[in-house]
Amino acid sequence: MLSSGGCVGRIHVLGRAAARMAYSSSASPAGSGLNFEFTPDQIALRDSVRKFVTDEIIPVAAQYDKTMEYPWPVIKKAHSLGFLNGVVPEKYGGLGLDAVSGVLICEEVAYGCSGMATAVTGNDLAETPVVIGGNEETKKKFLGRMIEEPLVASYAVTEPCAGSDVAGIKTKCEKKGDEYILNGSKMWITNAGHANWFFVLARSDPDPKAPAGKAFTAFAVEGDSPGLTRGRKEINMGQRCSDTRGITFEDVRVPASQVIGAPGEGFKIAMKTFDKTRPIVAAVASGLAERCLDVATQYSLERKAFGTEISNFQGVSFMLAEMAMQIEMARYMTYKSAYWVDTGRPGSFFASIAKLFASDTANMAATNCVQVFGGAGFNTEYPAEKLMRDAKIFQIYEGTSQIQRVVIARQMLARLKEQGFY
Ligand SMILES: Cc1cc2nc3c(=O)[nH]c(=O)nc-3n(C[C@H](O)[C@H](O)[C@H](O)COP(=O)(O)OP(=O)(O)OC[C@H]3O[C@@H](n4cnc5c(N)ncnc54)[C@H](O)[C@@H]3O)c2cc1C
Repeated sequence: MLSSGGCVGRIHVLGRAAARMAYSSSASPAGSGLNFEFTPDQIALRDSVRKFVTDEIIPVAAQYDKTMEYPWPVIKKAHSLGFLNGVVPEKYGGLGLDAVSGVLICEEVAYGCSGMATAVTGNDLAETPVVIGGNEETKKKFLGRMIEEPLVASYAVTEPCAGSDVAGIKTKCEKKGDEYILNGSKMWITNAGHANWFFVLARSDPDPKAPAGKAFTAFAVEGDSPGLTRGRKEINMGQRCSDTRGITFEDVRVPASQVIGAPGEGFKIAMKTFDKTRPIVAAVASGLAERCLDVATQYSLERKAFGTEISNFQGVSFMLAEMAMQIEMARYMTYKSAYWVDTGRPGSFFASIAKLFASDTANMAATNCVQVFGGAGFNTEYPAEKLMRDAKIFQIYEGTSQIQRVVIARQMLARLKEQGFY
């Protein structure tokens, strides 16, 4: 029987060997203008994360899903091996990983458990705006500690009244002397129960007509600030070991030195962050999709109906083919969007395409995986149902699939208006 967290290891090696063939074969011919190869360092990093995932995540993922406990032991071990906080530059003690290496780590971790991947990539989401807009003092203070100790942080933007409509948030900040006073509440914040510090976006200009690009200020806020209260852990459909909570701010005092970016420019910082972190979500979704393909393929090779393995039925093998095709596309877009970050080009277009496509692929792959398992797919003793529950969130957080389409359309139309057609 292929039980949850059970004999997935064999297919893990099989499926991942195929992936290795696809992305690390011999060097591309000189002068072709495209290079699909990872560097030897990237391959070594990916392989060591893969070993960690096989040894430390896959065996415990189902149990963490059941208990909904926060996976501290896994996070601590991953931290000790240097697999966390890849976005932190070397200057502040981090590895300063390139974005392609970063997505390779996330893809691997999500293959083991996307709930754990969400918990650890919550750090990247909180740290990225500090990397983009923090002053030296703030970077040293908030990024440095993430390397020294196994800590987690949160990106706190969404509120009960506004998620997609970020400019609709109501948390406000007022400057008093050398400090800002924050009041309001946030909702659905990943890692909020355990965060050592929070990236927080608040309205600084009360004029409702003020443009979003000037009306909000962003901060790094200490988790133990008086007046900051964490809500109860939300019980979500999937990714249940990840911690999601509301938080409230009642007269929380934040030193002005902890403003991220210039005062009034917080909205821009919060949005620029997504250009760098949506490739990470795409990688997490791709990792989950690959797991779906591997466990479904293995089951189809073992399960018999009408006297033969179900993989021999075209109806089943075509489902697997559809998954394989879309996963390759999702991974390609994920790597391309990360490469775009590494080459310093404006990232919204490819970041949104990658996030959207990989999220939809994860959901298709999870649905197909359940279908291949038949009745066993609907049962908690097998891995498929967790994968399906875990997949849905990709189409919701860090911008819903509808919002990704808004971003893609806006960017495409703007470019065409500016550059014209061929
Ligand atoms: C598990 C989890 C973890 C999360 N982690 C974080 C976190 O760490 N930090 C954080 O700040 N937030 C986080 N979020 C919040 C998440 O980003 C929001 O839930 C998401 O952006 C959607 O916002 P909303 O829930 O308010 O839905 P709404 O914005 O109310 O959207 C409802 C529906 O309307 C659609 N819609 C809205 N506007 C448009 C439009 N213009 N065009 C077309 N359709 C539209 C949406 O696509 C959606 O289908 C998390 C959420 C969850 C569930």
